[in-house]
Amino acid sequence: MKTITLINGDGIGPEISDAVVKIIDAAGLKINWDVQTAGADVIGAEGTPLPDRVVDSIKRNKVALKAPVTTPIGKGFRSVNVQLRKTLDLYANLRPCKNLPNIETKFNDVDIVVVRENTEDLYAGIERQIDSDTAESIKLITRCASERIAKFAFEYAVKNNRKEVCVVTKANIMKLSDGLFLDSYRKVAENYPQIHNREILVDNLCMQLVQNPSQFDVLVLPNLYGDIVSDLCAGLIGGLGVAQGANIGVDYAVFEPVHGSAPDIKGKNIANPTALLLSAVEMLKYIGENKYAENIESALFKTLQLGVKTPDLGGNATTEEFTNSIIKHL
Ligand code: ATP
Repeated sequence: MKTITLINGDGIGPEISDAVVKIIDAAGLKINWDVQTAGADVIGAEGTPLPDRVVDSIKRNKVALKAPVTTPIGKGFRSVNVQLRKTLDLYANLRPCKNLPNIETKFNDVDIVVVRENTEDLYAGIERQIDSDTAESIKLITRCASERIAKFAFEYAVKNNRKEVCVVTKANIMKLSDGLFLDSYRKVAENYPQIHNREILVDNLCMQLVQNPSQFDVLVLPNLYGDIVSDLCAGLIGGLGVAQGANIGVDYAVFEPVHGSAPDIKGKNIANPTALLLSAVEMLKYIGENKYAENIESALFKTLQLGVKTPDLGGNATTEEFTNSIIKHL
């Protein structure tokens, strides 16, 4: 039996984790969940929101499913999410954004995979205050990180039968940094003649995405553009309740929804488990359990098609009713 770390999070985290564990179990896949608590709730007892045992568990099991975890603001703790990405070198942020059945959005044919570089760019945290009126942030781009994210995007495209990988930069202005990202992409692309290449400037991409998103397939972006564009793409398919994600490195992978812990709806039995469930589906594909992944995905689609939806999607189903409907359709 496969052992997987489960970080059940806080806020709505425990409710949606429970739902997802129940669905996977009902699909007939036996997983030994190594449950690890993290975030604001454990600081009192353990002095940190990310105790070593959590990282050790992921290092042991290689794969984790993570519900949202709150990092208290202004108490001197680094974000659990950022810390996990750094400690485990999860260099690729993967966000598939595909229309779901019976969820009304502006476009019906969105099927975009956003591959965001997770470790450098303006998010490397190299900042300084030059004087009280001037601050400086460094946009760090290296060939090594740019080539490995481009390779990740092309490998993803090959494995998932995608046709095109489009690189997104502002290399006409930032000729050296974005220029290096683009050049790295071009070098890697030479090794994948079967995948179509495309280059686009980030401002043009944003306009095209809100006018005609179906023209895009896999996008590969440096960290900052990737952060912004992936939220734009999440908006195209129905927003936070359905936006899945994953952070993947050479040795470890953490699958997690895009949304936060939504404390405003905690304990009300109305949280939508779809984003975490789709993250889990991607995780099952990652560990080679494709049949279970497909079965769960199609049960989710049937549930949505029947109009069983949580309030964030305009429905009136509770988390429990929604979960039970998916289980019924497995
Ligand atoms: P964080 O700072 O932790 O990322 P945030 O402030 O960006 O959090 P979220 O917690 O992600 O905000 O969510 C914003 C709002 O969207 C929530 O307050 C909630 O109303 C709604 N929301 C988010 N996720 C879900 C979900 N899974 N189901 C239903 N509603 C959700």
